[in-house]
Amino acid sequence: MKQDAHSPAISAPTSQPFSSGPVSSGPVSSGLRIDIDNLDEAEVRLQQLHLYVDNHQHDRLLAPMLALITGSVLSIWVTWQVAALWMLVAFLITRNYLRVYNNFKQADPEAADVVKWERRIATAHGMHMLHWGGLCIWAWQPGVFENHIFIAMIVLGLMCATTAMSSPSYRLFIRDMAPVVIIGCARPLFEEGLLYHAMSALSVCFSILMVNVGLQIHRNLLRMLCLQQERRQLITELENMATTDALTGVSNRRAFIQCASEEINRSRRYEHPLSLLMIDIDHFKKVNDTFGHAMGDEVIKQVAQMIERDCRHNDRLARFGGEEFAVLLPESEICLAELTAERIRQRIESTEIIKEGQEVRVTISVGVAELSATDQHIDRLLDVADKRLYQAKNNGRNRVETA
Ligand code: GH3
Ligand code: MG
Ligand code: MG
Repeated sequence: MKQDAHSPAISAPTSQPFSSGPVSSGPVSSGLRIDIDNLDEAEVRLQQLHLYVDNHQHDRLLAPMLALITGSVLSIWVTWQVAALWMLVAFLITRNYLRVYNNFKQADPEAADVVKWERRIATAHGMHMLHWGGLCIWAWQPGVFENHIFIAMIVLGLMCATTAMSSPSYRLFIRDMAPVVIIGCARPLFEEGLLYHAMSALSVCFSILMVNVGLQIHRNLLRMLCLQQERRQLITELENMATTDALTGVSNRRAFIQCASEEINRSRRYEHPLSLLMIDIDHFKKVNDTFGHAMGDEVIKQVAQMIERDCRHNDRLARFGGEEFAVLLPESEICLAELTAERIRQRIESTEIIKEGQEVRVTISVGVAELSATDQHIDRLLDVADKRLYQAKNNGRNRVETA
């Protein structure tokens, strides 16, 4: 997936998941790092947005209380009407961004919608940051030291809160932090005296520290999310490996037995028919001996594809072992299953399998069995189909046996 130009290249050392190394923006070295390009970046960004919103849900209690206290203190320096208006706007902005957070949580969006939600949240919460950061401009009283100390406390508080709460998302952290840092560092410079210059210098140092800490928290969370995602992908891969035959891509015996048990239960419950085909390639050993193992593999693959072509959506095909396949046919009585088996047999018999200039034609033998009212389990069905398959072999191969 393509890296967003605004985000640092996302890479995390797997052997040192909590290393404090800088976020690399260059090519990702293999081995020690997780390359997010191999993961689903949008999914990681969505998880970051969830963490961001979870952190900011604390504003539910905190923001109105802080607005109340701040507005009350401001009324010392500005008229109570102005202070009340500021408080009212603060409440409305807080209510708005909390509503956006709620909508985000309720929508539980797909990874594809992450950019849309990032924008909505950045706008809603950005208004909050501007509203509070703006205090440095309009509420700053020239020559009133207590007022300057109070506003400096608000600026430092905003920096700390942003570092702690906004760091999961790189983009939102930068957007939240920028107005506070710029206004907070610049405003004291408009006052005369060394103290104000020192205040500004302190704000700059504190901003650098907080931005660095925020980015470090961001990187650590990102490593955690990358590892979580990699873990999920590995589990999915393992699940696929445990249920899929590597050569043909169809189900393996284990997955088939599990699925067949469910299908049998359903068929018994609704008294619907169900049949099973056991298919074995005839004289397959000869193919291996004459054309080599690679050609043998190709034959197995193409036979699986040909069987699949004649299966319906609900039929279940599995490679049972070597050159043997099983097909479960729900909703099929034995006569319908026989027709399907015959179609498959004819298709395979008449198809030339070609690999690297070599051509081979194979045939199959099929044993067909139907679920009986007394069958509780797949075992008897397999047994009957197997017996009929060997009957087909004994009767000359390239045929379908149903009795
Ligand atoms: P029959 O008509 O009685 O079924 O004869 P056959 O030769 O098909 O049966 P047999 O069981 O004697 O031989 C099956 C061969 O399939 C033996 C084994 O080496 C080969 N085989 C099993 N799995 C694979 C595989 O994954 N790839 C290849 N190329 N050959 C395989
Ligand atoms: Mg065989
Ligand atoms: Mg066999």
